[in-house]
Amino acid sequence: MAISAPLLSFYSSLLPSSSSSFSTSLFPISKPHFYSPSSYSISNSPSSAIRASFSEMPSSPDSFNFRKPEIPSMSPFSLSMNESSNQPIKWRRVLLKVSGEALAGDHSQNIDPKITMAIAREVAAVTRLGIEVAIVVGGGNIFRGSSWAGCSGLDRSSADYIGMLATVMNAIFLQATMESIGIPTRVQTAFRMSEVAEPYIRRRAVRHLEKGRVVIFAAGTGNPFFTTDTAAALRCAEINAEVVLKATNVDGVFDDDPRRNPHARLLDTLTYQDVTSKDLSVMDMTAITLCQENNIPVVVFNLNKPGNIEKAIKGERVGTLIGATWNSTISRT
Ligand code: UDP
Repeated sequence: MAISAPLLSFYSSLLPSSSSSFSTSLFPISKPHFYSPSSYSISNSPSSAIRASFSEMPSSPDSFNFRKPEIPSMSPFSLSMNESSNQPIKWRRVLLKVSGEALAGDHSQNIDPKITMAIAREVAAVTRLGIEVAIVVGGGNIFRGSSWAGCSGLDRSSADYIGMLATVMNAIFLQATMESIGIPTRVQTAFRMSEVAEPYIRRRAVRHLEKGRVVIFAAGTGNPFFTTDTAAALRCAEINAEVVLKATNVDGVFDDDPRRNPHARLLDTLTYQDVTSKDLSVMDMTAITLCQENNIPVVVFNLNKPGNIEKAIKGERVGTLIGATWNSTISRT
């Protein structure tokens, strides 16, 4: 495949032999409980199954809004109209968060080129409508600092810097895919790697977006002990994007594990308080708090369903919406 095979196999060879040291905990399941898509982790083998974490839900699941498939989409908020199709467009500028594990697809390699191409094609479709797209990429498909801290004397900060470097690899791969189909794309890194990419400069990033370029933010926040979810919330607030669209490998947030329980229901909307007080682990606490404090809604959706990225960016009802309702009007500018 096209990705730098020696580099990726180097990182693969670094993976620990025990998957337990490389995965998040699997809490005991007791009903009712919540499914936490962002807490997926990849174990040491590329082909290993991803795991979900669970936490107990202290109150009745009926206090949540479940997705009711028979209800037609409500008219979404209309900041502008797409003249060609006359469809309302909800967002003008979005922050798409793509986790490393989502990029890994079926995990036979660290990156699945089919996934990056699918992202590129769908992003291309929406940029043609004039929607500005910034992307934050994760790096968990290659390296997670917290899983490696303590190994062979590796301190947490150094491990996190390696994790941030992993996000740069993903960003460069994604940029190459985007540009291969004609989408002008810039990578900006949170720490300087000027031979490889631009440094993060907020005003320059905004200018790129205004010119119709996609901007990929790499290296997270540039600080250890943070995550790329927090980087997504931070960059979203900084560039005045209107929403964080969190692309995952699952349909959204469920009231139970859909792999174990065929009757698990997809939650339609959640408040920030639902996420924090019920420990849903949709995003880490720093990220969701940052979203809450800055009124940034979050859409959690499945990257693997064709058309979903486009739908999410266009503001169509997909996945689970946190911090807003589907028919509300949001303007952060
Ligand atoms: N990381 C970091 N600071 C940041 C963002 C990321 O130290 O601001 C490191 C951290 O080690 C993390 C790794 O980069 O484990 C990959 O990021 P993340 O786990 O958020 O990737 P994802 O889960 O989205 O694939």
